[in-house]
Amino acid sequence: MNSHRVVIAGLGDSGVLTAIRLARHADVVGISAKPALVSGQELGWRVSRPHDWARANWIPFDRFRGLDRVRTVHGTLTGLDLDARAVLVRHDDGTTSAEKYDALVISTGVRNGFWRQPNFQSADEIGADLRAAHESVAEAASVIVVGGGAAAVSSAANIARTWPDKRVDLYFPNERALVGHHPRSWEQVRRRLVEAGVGLHPGHRAVIPDGFACDRITNEPVQWSTGQPPASATAVLWATGRVRPNTDWLPAELLDENGFVRVTPELRVLGQPGVFAVGDVAATDPLRSSARNRADALLADNIRAGFAGRPLRSYRPPKRRWGSVLGPQRDGLEVFAPNGHAFTFPAWSFDRVLMPLFVRWGIYRGVRTNKPLS
Ligand SMILES: Cc1cc2nc3c(=O)[nH]c(=O)nc-3n(C[C@H](O)[C@H](O)[C@H](O)COP(=O)(O)OP(=O)(O)OC[C@H]3O[C@@H](n4cnc5c(N)ncnc54)[C@H](O)[C@@H]3O)c2cc1C
Repeated sequence: MNSHRVVIAGLGDSGVLTAIRLARHADVVGISAKPALVSGQELGWRVSRPHDWARANWIPFDRFRGLDRVRTVHGTLTGLDLDARAVLVRHDDGTTSAEKYDALVISTGVRNGFWRQPNFQSADEIGADLRAAHESVAEAASVIVVGGGAAAVSSAANIARTWPDKRVDLYFPNERALVGHHPRSWEQVRRRLVEAGVGLHPGHRAVIPDGFACDRITNEPVQWSTGQPPASATAVLWATGRVRPNTDWLPAELLDENGFVRVTPELRVLGQPGVFAVGDVAATDPLRSSARNRADALLADNIRAGFAGRPLRSYRPPKRRWGSVLGPQRDGLEVFAPNGHAFTFPAWSFDRVLMPLFVRWGIYRGVRTNKPLS
């Protein structure tokens, strides 16, 4: 029997992986507003081919073998009592309970656009959201994508490739998109966008209407603060990278001036022994890159080291973004290294090697067959 209780607050990409790594070493409780891992990745794939996307990116918790020993609680985190060492959780029936911890992992991520929101949802509601976004883009004759990050670029490319007859335009504020990536990555992705027929519009900074949180697909003309005439399309997809941390349940003393959780290089929350943060919510570095750089492994080791009185290790972030931008395509999956060079996994290897062996076994330590999106 494990004597230490670890509470994982937020079971998204980083929370699930941290829970899996700790499951055999502690009594782990994971709390999440969703009944599944619903990844915030690969927006273009998600909007254009939601069935395919869901197979890889929407995985109910009971499908993860590594979570069999973890107790998952479907609820919304509403508070943290540092003195009592407990988090407060609101349940679907309106009641609230407290979950006590010896170590707490804050991994509630960020909200971003219509595709990444921390609201309490059932599986049916998640499916309805996926279908609604897909249908509004499928029915549109023309699409504007606003934004210059990976979500925007991948949306424009995937929409244009899925529906070659649609007019698709990508508007971004700088001379190039993907400014956090190496210039070589952008050059390669730019060629792919042009091949797919996407109209590229650099130097366009959109005016975000007052009170609009960029959290739905719109159809009104888009105005530009950079002076160009307004642009119109049947569907406007906002991927402006205005991420907001999901930290309204935390005491302000844990947060930096932008609302992210302040952490030491060991991913410890400053001044709070036993409290850690990881993923997009943790202010580790300017790109807040600990999720994609798999700091869940380091964090799990550090939590165990903390219990055993051993020294903790530090997270060392790379300076540039890396990873896949466009997601899996008919001609393979391109993954960009921090130096901008791309490695392409052939298309055949995605379903036969990459997903079953590398992702489901290598990363998640076993995932039972996923139920398809109906
Ligand atoms: C294996 C892996 C591969 C990756 N590959 C890439 C890549 O190729 N390219 C790239 O750009 N990035 C990649 N990333 C990173 C990715 O873009 C994000 O950084 C990552 O999804 C962030 O994970 P997270 O756990 O911090 O947040 P999330 O996955 O958003 O998880 C947060 C969770 O907390 C829940 N939550 C929030 N608030 C509450 C609350 N109050 N109560 C209850 N629950 C709440 C949310 O609903 C959500 O489920 C990768 C990440 C991983 C782990």
